[in-house]
Amino acid sequence: MLTYRDTAPGGSEPGAPRHGGPAHHGGGPQGRPKAIVIGSGFGGLAAAARLGARGFDVTVLERLDGPGGRAYVWRQDGFTFDAGPTIVTAPFVFEDIWKLCGRDFAQDVTLKRLDPFYQIRFDDGDVMNCSGDAAAMRAEVARIAPDDLAGYDRFARDSKRIYDFAFAEMAHQPFHKINKMITMLPRLLRLGGHNSVHAYVAHRVKSPKLRFALSFHPLFIGGNPFNTTSFYCLINYLEQGWGVNYAMGGTGALVQAMADLVGHVGGKLRYGAEVAEITHAQGRATGVRLADGERLAADVVICNADPATVYRTMVPGLKRRRWTDAKIDRMDYSMSVFVWYFGTKKRYENVPHHSIVLGPRYKDLLRDIFRNKIVTEDFSMYLYRPSASDPSVAPPGCDAFYALVPVPNLDSGDDWEKLAEPYRQRVERRLEETMLPGLRDQIVTSRITTPIDFRDRLRSERGAAFGMEPKLLQSAWFRPHNRSEELESLYFVGAGTHPGAGLPGVVSSARVVDEMIPAASVVAGAAGSAHV
Ligand SMILES: Cc1cc2nc3c(=O)[nH]c(=O)nc-3n(C[C@H](O)[C@H](O)[C@H](O)COP(=O)(O)OP(=O)(O)OC[C@H]3O[C@@H](n4cnc5c(N)ncnc54)[C@H](O)[C@@H]3O)c2cc1C
Repeated sequence: MLTYRDTAPGGSEPGAPRHGGPAHHGGGPQGRPKAIVIGSGFGGLAAAARLGARGFDVTVLERLDGPGGRAYVWRQDGFTFDAGPTIVTAPFVFEDIWKLCGRDFAQDVTLKRLDPFYQIRFDDGDVMNCSGDAAAMRAEVARIAPDDLAGYDRFARDSKRIYDFAFAEMAHQPFHKINKMITMLPRLLRLGGHNSVHAYVAHRVKSPKLRFALSFHPLFIGGNPFNTTSFYCLINYLEQGWGVNYAMGGTGALVQAMADLVGHVGGKLRYGAEVAEITHAQGRATGVRLADGERLAADVVICNADPATVYRTMVPGLKRRRWTDAKIDRMDYSMSVFVWYFGTKKRYENVPHHSIVLGPRYKDLLRDIFRNKIVTEDFSMYLYRPSASDPSVAPPGCDAFYALVPVPNLDSGDDWEKLAEPYRQRVERRLEETMLPGLRDQIVTSRITTPIDFRDRLRSERGAAFGMEPKLLQSAWFRPHNRSEELESLYFVGAGTHPGAGLPGVVSSARVVDEMIPAASVVAGAAGSAHV
């Protein structure tokens, strides 16, 4: 198992100071320096826990009525629906934070490794089970395309090399200086980072089915496999190395455990607290103003909200050097998703925990979603059935599901208020034809999420489900930096900054920020007597 980092130098007691220890400064309890975290997504909670463990007086401000952001939980009619993330691929990033906070992750969260990981149902009805059992996986590859077995083995070896560089090294480094990017460039090119995930896979296997099965993973984090750097092949290695895991109780149980961890290190979480403005003076963030007018001062502000939205709307009066409105307009934003959450009054015992139900097209469908921005007649979808592994998420004898369809972001110009119900019906029909016969008569509860929710509820530019698209020229230095280019004492965590979307990415962004924020004493000293 990888040693992610020795995260607790000198002990990991809650509140134990690092990098020199907490300072004595104005407002916080016992004179601790104040950190405000805007947003309680995984990135925000991870940052809050880390800074709390370092002795900061942390307050998390969340505009919604509960934690999680994209990983919010919908509860209705006895069903528990994870709104977004369903797969935990890198448990060590969580274990690391728990250790730092003086707690044992396994005591607070039960992860279940799924076997098989997921089932892919191709449009011709053929099914492929993907798993972490190397022999079973090779047998499945050999069944589908015997000539591709050697290429598959090569892919498995190469994805480890990519992981060693792109995740174990790059994901935890700050990329706020162009020099870092330049020094890494030769290795990046040697490892094929300039190729797309699909090109990388296609170079190794020929079968279209295998090409799909080994290349679709960037869609989990909002990237088009035909356009996303091959470095995202590391997701395959994460899956093989640490499994496709499910947090018992749902991803929401992991969110809640993390919110509790923040409390354990003395942090506070305030819900229904919408930040309207990041206040600043002399080029330094000084705190926030809430939508209801309340002002809170801080020594550091860590922003988990979408950087595009923040720079565009939440720093009025600031002359922005890099993230001007024009620059924000020029960036490419990820796809969005249509998600239908539903409960059935019977159990579909043959349906696995995770399924991918493919339509007839792959590359052209993605071009329509990402580039042409068309809501097409045909679609592929991901079907989530957590009740396959965890009866607690549905009433007895029932199943909880969600069906997720990648769709264009709001640049498509579609009116999702009107489109939502007809679209849901199309998804329902497709599920009836494929995985869930007789579905219509079994539904007892239902709700939907459309790109509008990402724009209005989660405040994401263009209703993108995953923030800025993870293309090579929008990654690392090219992404909004973890340490703001515009204001001192302002930091970013989460999908919109480096390294990017997905739980391993956003939780790692908190580690990058943790290492960038100087000793609490230095923070407080530099802030001096700044007031809002
Ligand atoms: C449907 C779906 C499925 C996914 N599946 C997976 C998966 O299986 N595995 C995986 O690893 N990843 C998955 N992802 C990606 C992953 O969920 C996200 O990348 C990650 O959760 C984003 O976390 P974040 O830290 O960026 O914060 P977010 O979840 O984006 O949260 C940001 C928070 O900031 C709050 N906020 C915004 N503005 C303000 C303001 N002005 N004041 C106060 N609060 C504010 C928002 O309300 C929100 O709670 C999925 C994403 C989606 C959408």
